[in-house]
Amino acid sequence: MASSFLFPDPTSSCTICDSPNAQACAGCHSTRYCSPECQQTDWPSHGLLCSKYTTHIDRPDPSYKRAIFFPPKENKPEFIWIECRTDKKIWVPGDTQECQVREHLDGGFPHRKLIQRNHLRSRNLTNSFQVICRETCLLDGSELNKSVIKATNGAAGSSWKGPIVAMKKIGRGAYPREYMDIDMTCYRDVVDYFISYRDGSAPRGKMKRIMWGKVRGVKINCKGDQSTSGAEVYSAVDVPRQHPVFLGPIVPISRLVGMPIHTRRYPPNRLWKDDHDHVDSPYENVPATCIHMISDRNKDWWGLAPIKWQYDVGSVLVVRSDNQDVTTQQVEALCHFCQFKMQPLFENALGGGLVEMTRAEVMRYITPGAFRDYVAEMRAGKVEEGEEEE
Ligand SMILES: [Zn+2]
Ligand SMILES: [Zn+2]
Repeated sequence: MASSFLFPDPTSSCTICDSPNAQACAGCHSTRYCSPECQQTDWPSHGLLCSKYTTHIDRPDPSYKRAIFFPPKENKPEFIWIECRTDKKIWVPGDTQECQVREHLDGGFPHRKLIQRNHLRSRNLTNSFQVICRETCLLDGSELNKSVIKATNGAAGSSWKGPIVAMKKIGRGAYPREYMDIDMTCYRDVVDYFISYRDGSAPRGKMKRIMWGKVRGVKINCKGDQSTSGAEVYSAVDVPRQHPVFLGPIVPISRLVGMPIHTRRYPPNRLWKDDHDHVDSPYENVPATCIHMISDRNKDWWGLAPIKWQYDVGSVLVVRSDNQDVTTQQVEALCHFCQFKMQPLFENALGGGLVEMTRAEVMRYITPGAFRDYVAEMRAGKVEEGEEEE
């Protein structure tokens, strides 16, 4: 349709970054993502409800609408059915539906907040949603809501106490009249609202900058991804700032050479996930194994990668811990430095190499200066390689 150019269809845009032409989640078919990186960013919240979405189908009566209940003492939200009656006596103009939520609020009087914009992601919503808590929840000694803490990965403020229900309403405006079933994209908007809520105001500039936007990262493709998608070993990817990769530890060697990075494994692709017949495992990722070699001299596994980085590694995401973009050349240089410069030195100190060395002597090679020199050598070496090509 010609009009879709002017008015992009919000139902096909990425829930995390609003890029167009996003693909539906294979689990719930409700949320859409433009990339594996955006999907992984949503997963800590999304994964709590994804598999429940298609199985929550036992609607008691057409007057019941699907809602999300955030229990105060449980570790995850859940879907519930809420009866929505049309009540002509309500003071607001016209026939307006009333939702029966009091039993979920332990009998408390409901306080409803109507939301029509996602401030974190700077988007207006096509339909509204309501967040309903007990009117007295901040005063009656209610404890912080555990399932909100879990769904927001701990990023929500301290305003969310006691039981909470989220419901979706059709349309926008001051009094959207009717309720509709809540979906997984609306769930993301609710979670973002919990995160951005600051006494009713929009998030402040810094908050917005931290949560929003992407940095350039690098995917180190394992053998399986290289052979099934024809990818190079290193490919550039855009990574949302909320991606869980940023929560992991800094890779020790990367810190020592002055280019601190976080890494995280991609889930195995279903094209090669169960392929164990190969002589070469599709999970093999030697460069990713090598950058995880342990450089702490007091550790037993010094000079070797921990077990989890030796077997079934798969593809690996790399981002810088200091918010800067990282290029495929930089990651390739670090991997080469670890594999071809450091590994032989580690072997020397472990007694299996060509020269006898102490651990202390080896550690003198893991510095920003040594890395810079290696990168310069590598570049020079690459030029020669190119010239020798037959
Ligand atoms: Zn996206
Ligand atoms: Zn899903």
